[in-house]
Amino acid sequence: MQLAYRIDFCTLAAGMLFGNLQGRLVVAAADGAVVDVERASDGRFGPDPQSVYAAWDAFVAWAASADLSAEAGSQPLDPAHLDVPVPGPRQVFAVALNYPEHAAEAEMAKPDSPLIFTKFPTCLVGADAEVALPGEMVDWEVEVVLVIGKEGHGVAPEDAWDHVAGVTVGQDLSARDVQRRGPAPQFSLGKSFPGFGPIGPWVATLDEVADRDAIPLSCELNGERVQGGTTAEMIFSVPELIAYVSGICTLLPGDLLFTGTPAGVGARRTPPRFLRPGDELVSRVEGVGEIVQRFVAGPEEQIDAKAMAKGA
Ligand code: ZN
Repeated sequence: MQLAYRIDFCTLAAGMLFGNLQGRLVVAAADGAVVDVERASDGRFGPDPQSVYAAWDAFVAWAASADLSAEAGSQPLDPAHLDVPVPGPRQVFAVALNYPEHAAEAEMAKPDSPLIFTKFPTCLVGADAEVALPGEMVDWEVEVVLVIGKEGHGVAPEDAWDHVAGVTVGQDLSARDVQRRGPAPQFSLGKSFPGFGPIGPWVATLDEVADRDAIPLSCELNGERVQGGTTAEMIFSVPELIAYVSGICTLLPGDLLFTGTPAGVGARRTPPRFLRPGDELVSRVEGVGEIVQRFVAGPEEQIDAKAMAKGA
């Protein structure tokens, strides 16, 4: 399928979309192309897409004043070459049951504090990915993902947005059988198989989204809309999530925070529906773009989940 990598340049006046083109930090330019940041900044920023978060304020100031037109040395964008926009976060946080209707479909009480787990960073892939299915209970969860732009511990809710560099589209792919394994289930491994953390295509700065407290998100499985909502529905808002997590862990520049998924996951359907080889999943966040995964059968040894659960 043809992804919506095209950029609505009417929205570009205020904000910025940046990404990872074959390992190099790029900014979407005003002519449908991208500008290589290291070349355009004479080596001040880039080329590593992860390195920019450590100097976020300086980078934004430079980008606001830089000439990002075609004449500044831009190159045509081949979407197939866009890679993970945040390739090396030191921490990846995610929150479970953060939308009331999703908590209800999961038959769980509305949590009284955020339920935080991790997706280990090796699960991250880019916006256009083939994902091997490690079993028969792999499910979808479209999410808005925050990219942290400033270190913080004990961040007050009113200061929380100042710690966010931007947002990207994410899928919190989940092997439900592995996620629920054992007497005290630990979510993190079941959500960290290779390819289970697709993000992209861009990181959008906050002025790219119309309302940062009500960001629309949705996903389609084989062309059928299966999830949709806005972040305004979240039980714990972005400021509350950042205050809670940073009250425990120090947030670092370039960290990711998956903010939870609306209702409509496969496990809670009647009958349950899981991802199958040949399926295509497209996820969208307004102001950022869309990502797609095509699913293929995984290696036989991974499919035998019982063999992995020693003593189970
Ligand atoms: Zn999730």
